[in-house]
Amino acid sequence: MSSIDQIAAALQGYDPKALPAEQVNQFLARLVEPVSGTDTLGVFDALGRVLAEDVVSPISVPPHDNSAMDGFAFDGGQLRAGEPLTLQLAEGTAFAGTAWAGTAQPGQCVKIMTGAIMPSGLDTVVPLEFVNITADQVTIPANVLQQGDNRRLLGEDLMAGQAALRRGQTLGPAALGLIASLGLPQVPVCRRLKVAYFSTGDEILSLGETPREGAVYDSNRYTVFGLLTRMGVEVIDMGVVKDEPAALETAFRTAAAKADAIITSGGVSMGEADHTKAMMKQLGDVAFWRIAMRPGRPMAVGKIEQGGQSAVLFGLPGNPVAVMVTFLAFVRPALQRMMGCTACEPVLLKAHSAETLRKKPGRTEYQRGTVTRAADGALQVRTTGNQGSGVLSSMVQANGLIVLHHGQGSVAVGDEVDVMMFDGAI
Ligand code: AMP
Ligand code: MG
Repeated sequence: MSSIDQIAAALQGYDPKALPAEQVNQFLARLVEPVSGTDTLGVFDALGRVLAEDVVSPISVPPHDNSAMDGFAFDGGQLRAGEPLTLQLAEGTAFAGTAWAGTAQPGQCVKIMTGAIMPSGLDTVVPLEFVNITADQVTIPANVLQQGDNRRLLGEDLMAGQAALRRGQTLGPAALGLIASLGLPQVPVCRRLKVAYFSTGDEILSLGETPREGAVYDSNRYTVFGLLTRMGVEVIDMGVVKDEPAALETAFRTAAAKADAIITSGGVSMGEADHTKAMMKQLGDVAFWRIAMRPGRPMAVGKIEQGGQSAVLFGLPGNPVAVMVTFLAFVRPALQRMMGCTACEPVLLKAHSAETLRKKPGRTEYQRGTVTRAADGALQVRTTGNQGSGVLSSMVQANGLIVLHHGQGSVAVGDEVDVMMFDGAI
């Protein structure tokens, strides 16, 4: 495990007082590593978990050539361009789940249902609605079909012995179905990540406390709880911790003993006269950053040890929007990496800006945006009102973050901008 100094030395031009957002992710990718330990879970319980090993298919899917339509199976080699084809209907039907028992003779066809195994020697299915049937004869009009049509091939979804799913993939509904389609009742997944969270600051009120002058209700605990829960981690809520050395020390030590990662909010800005930073420094190997970004800026990262256990620390700023933005931009990908995910980069989409956005090169800005479809069908995005870092309602209204990159300048109406959509994250 690398120390803060080792990672810093490995990064070109690292300056903790003016850190580009991109370098934050590079730093964190070196700081965190996937946790060890796996659980073997039933398919239903594996939803949202990260696959710990490749799933190799024990069978081919589908296991046989089968019909994609209700109709008549025949040997497509008999089709001639420009000519109809008349076939003799054989006795019996090929049902899904009950194969046709006979052997088709040349010139014969067999009635077949969707999903039924193709009778041997037959490779093409003409749908019911295409044919004319008279007594025991089936006539296929000219030029409606080609050899092999309406037949699903053995293994066209998956071949036995192939990796059906890769380690590091988060299991969604489609993956659950795929696992079940292979007949596998259980899958190995990475163990659940444990993340402890607490808010710091003397001015922070817990719900139920009487309001007093200068105090604000704690919202960060709730947004962080929501963000973490959406990721499928085990959240350890540690409440609001007063800005007192003893309380902070207990909180950090307890969190480090229980959790893989600790998230705090507040008390990390440059001008802070409180004890949070001092305690982080005392108990851990921690870097204090000023990130070239807006909103956000201050952030502490490192490791805190307690009783042989080590937890990664993410000390987020206090402002409610800054908390959510730094979480989405930096903490989420780092936690995903710890969870065993292999694809942690958020996917950005492009939308045309519906307004002018003023922006100075030299920092990354994350503006709250609402993406909609314009009259011409293209995606457009506009900002949600006041972009102040304490204006949490801007996050409620938005459906994504407009990412104005480090080197980027102002944006004119109609320019394309990158948007990090909230999707299931928020
Ligand atoms: P700080 O980073 O501690 O200087 O806090 C910056 C701003 O965020 C201050 O206005 C704090 O009152 C506010 N703040 C800090 N923590 C929270 C919290 N848990 N919930 C809501 N606002 C907070
Ligand atoms: Mg403070």
